[in-house]
Amino acid sequence: MSGLYLHIPFCKRKCLYCDFCSFEKTDLITEFLKAIQKEIELRLFPKFNIETVYIGGGTPSILKEKEIEKLFEIVRNKIDLSKVKEITFEANPESLNLEKAKLLLSLGVNRISLGAQSFNEEKLKYLGRLASVEQFESAFENLIKAGFENINIDLIYGIPNQTVDEWDKDLEYVKNLNPQHISCYCLEIHRGTPLWQDREKISDEEQEKMYFLAIEKLRKMGYAQYEISNFSKPGKKSLHNLNYWLRGNYIGFGPSAASCINEKRMVNSPQIDKYLHKLLGGLSPEFSQETLSQEDIYREKLMLGLRLSDGIEYNGDIFIKFKDKIVRAIEKGFLETNGNRVKIKERFLFVSNSIISEIIF
Ligand code: SF4
Repeated sequence: MSGLYLHIPFCKRKCLYCDFCSFEKTDLITEFLKAIQKEIELRLFPKFNIETVYIGGGTPSILKEKEIEKLFEIVRNKIDLSKVKEITFEANPESLNLEKAKLLLSLGVNRISLGAQSFNEEKLKYLGRLASVEQFESAFENLIKAGFENINIDLIYGIPNQTVDEWDKDLEYVKNLNPQHISCYCLEIHRGTPLWQDREKISDEEQEKMYFLAIEKLRKMGYAQYEISNFSKPGKKSLHNLNYWLRGNYIGFGPSAASCINEKRMVNSPQIDKYLHKLLGGLSPEFSQETLSQEDIYREKLMLGLRLSDGIEYNGDIFIKFKDKIVRAIEKGFLETNGNRVKIKERFLFVSNSIISEIIF
């Protein structure tokens, strides 16, 4: 399978925890659309069937209706989307009205990922989010009215000073919305962001409690956990993200976007000014390029495979490559076998990174 990613790097205002490639420079959108058109024309990729499209950011829903139409026109003019099964569009509540939702559906978008993060006003303010709970409700309603049947809601837990009880209320709230997919991310506080000073205001133990509460509650609500942070109703896994975890080919356009085609990885410049300047001057916006070694490929396969609840194949190529360490992790009780698969035991999922690192290094 192959995926196409378009990065829309604009947000009206930076959230206080944000470490993503996004800029408060919405006046650059027109120029950006010209640049992304150039990038699509300029970069030559071997022909392959694109089956998923993901328009992420940033805040793609910040684009005006005309700009969204233009973006789709640019893509469809140059890229064959006839085999596409899933088109996801990321939205934030404050910039999604009914007209935009209807337009997206009419353009072929069949999955929306809506950033809620929390249903607690105080926490939303703390995180520096723009939308209120009321705005979220209205955006969600607009998606339903427009006819979307595949909606993901992004949630964040482990916020400084958040209690388990508050997180429990967020999970209860999402239960009533009953979306098809939920992503729950533990807040990561990065150096250089305004929240850095508060990083010790919540412990790993509390975050771990919140994580397991989510697993337990979402399971009872009928969501299957198929990846460390992702839960879906039957048949509603994110095909685009699965393609990353299963190491399919993908092409990314936009600043900071990565592509990996036949084990060759390319990453674009993450600086918007450089990205625009290069493309509008007819140059490639590529920042780095590498061909993965067999060793890199095995490491990645293990790292990504063990994030999935299906794990990796017992006695498959990855298993054989890391056999001694995998067997040791099974003996220590961190991994379990299930038929012909090996995976991380549920109770160790919160510390999966250290288990995976121990096997790889
Ligand atoms: S909406 Fe997302 S990308 Fe934009 S500032 Fe907030 S966290 Fe960053």
